[in-house]
Amino acid sequence: MLVPVRCFTCGGLIADKYGEYSNRVKAGEDPAKVMDSLGVKRYCCRRMFISTVETIYQIIPYYEALRRRMSEVQTEIE
Ligand SMILES: [Zn+2]
Repeated sequence: MLVPVRCFTCGGLIADKYGEYSNRVKAGEDPAKVMDSLGVKRYCCRRMFISTVETIYQIIPYYEALRRRMSEVQTEIE
């Protein structure tokens, strides 16, 4: 799932900051310091960053397998 555009609790805009947060944390920076530097102060917004799981990379293999199986079935029919 993509990161929500706004915080569920306060409605603060968070999606514009998530890309930079994600890149900097992957580069090895401390997540708390990255959120502080991005101006994410409220704990409701901070939990949005911490708890977001990008499930798209877990879902993509199933769609690839489904497409592969559909093409196999299509060739069996022909
Ligand atoms: Zn919030």
